[in-house]
Amino acid sequence: MPERMKKFSRVVYWCVLLGILVPRDLLSAETTQPHVLLLSIDGLRPDYYLHPDTYHLKIPHLRALMQHGSYAQRMLGVYPTLTYPSHTTIVTGVRPARHGIVSNFILAPTQGLLNWYLKSTDIQAKTLWQAARDKGLKTAIVTWPVSYDAPVDYLIPENLAATSDIADLIRQGSTAGLFEDLAKHFGPIKLLPFSDPKACLPLDSMTTNFAAEIVRRYQPHLLLVHLLDLDHEQHSTGIDTPQVLASFERIDGLIGKLSDAVRQAGLLADTTFVIVGDHGFLPVHAALDFNALLLEKGLLSIDETGKIKDWSAFVQGNGGAAAVYVKDSNDAALRAQVEKLLRDEIAARYEGIVRIVEREQLDQLEAFPGALLALEATDGYYFSLSNPKRQILNPSDPFKGMHGYLPLRITRQNSDRTEHISWSDKHLQNSSRGFVSKSLIHRWRLVSSLVAEAFARE
Ligand SMILES: [Zn+2]
Repeated sequence: MPERMKKFSRVVYWCVLLGILVPRDLLSAETTQPHVLLLSIDGLRPDYYLHPDTYHLKIPHLRALMQHGSYAQRMLGVYPTLTYPSHTTIVTGVRPARHGIVSNFILAPTQGLLNWYLKSTDIQAKTLWQAARDKGLKTAIVTWPVSYDAPVDYLIPENLAATSDIADLIRQGSTAGLFEDLAKHFGPIKLLPFSDPKACLPLDSMTTNFAAEIVRRYQPHLLLVHLLDLDHEQHSTGIDTPQVLASFERIDGLIGKLSDAVRQAGLLADTTFVIVGDHGFLPVHAALDFNALLLEKGLLSIDETGKIKDWSAFVQGNGGAAAVYVKDSNDAALRAQVEKLLRDEIAARYEGIVRIVEREQLDQLEAFPGALLALEATDGYYFSLSNPKRQILNPSDPFKGMHGYLPLRITRQNSDRTEHISWSDKHLQNSSRGFVSKSLIHRWRLVSSLVAEAFARE
């Protein structure tokens, strides 16, 4: 384990979830400058690399990394266990309430519900790329969450819009001329709206090709890369489906492409690979929308197309979790009214399906600042994020897998399925110092100290 590593050789391959540590005497080449490639496999579940034979997985590149390296059994995420809050914790080392990316989506109910956090200026804590840049190191990002306007040398930002002009949106946010230049090399880039179940095939392919070419051409010291297909497949097909397993094998091939590029750039001996995941998954069969209740009580209004026209209270679905907001947080009567409404409804009809996560618990988890409280769905359920429904309970279509749940639940469920998930407050309170060997915060410390150590050897 990384904690037991006394001394890093000049050349280190190391991963947090998956990894490889190559002692210096195994390497022939002397090194000059250290490089770090931080690769995130979205929705990576430990089972797939801890027990690949159980799933008959053909993952030669990851197996090789594990054979020579270091890896974690599991890790504890942040709340909500969503992609953008989690990735921002990976690069800042603090939980969502501190780094400011508290959901995938900006809370602005009347301006649409799927406004992804895009701008790196929304991040309220120092990032790894800023720290590297401060040291004068060459930095690059290829489709990493919340990276528009990130101060790096080579930027291809992430954009998961459900529109057909997604490639153009990414091009517009890229370092001047870089997207066009890389696209010329690989032929026309055609991406699908992110809502398309197959959107991540061309997206991951573009990401890998661009990242590989950036390595070959520019040799950045720090490169951040995000692959999304494993997450997409788990959302649309469920857990452990043939499509999910095929996706993981495809991603292994992309990792092979990236390590080939590092080799071609002559940097294999100088590069530390850090491969991380952000959250696990639970299967779902039903979706909940408590905005239906707010609609019925006149606390929310919609126009003829179903879009939110005005609101005094709103439930923001975040997958397995939901955050409850009132527009005027100083309105004590309104807060009390909304709270009673939800508590009564849950007690009457959703006992055992939904539990309330109190504000004090959210403070401990450093989650959903400003929210009145949060709701947590039990296994099989999640909270919708679309135009308010007319009824609370709805079919889960189009999703078969979901995340966003309390970190301890999703961690335990995804590392040992036979274990019972406790809903007790005791477990919730203990989640930050629980039984797991790694947390996203812990991971950041390891990643950042490794990056610091790698660069200190320069
Ligand atoms: Zn994710």
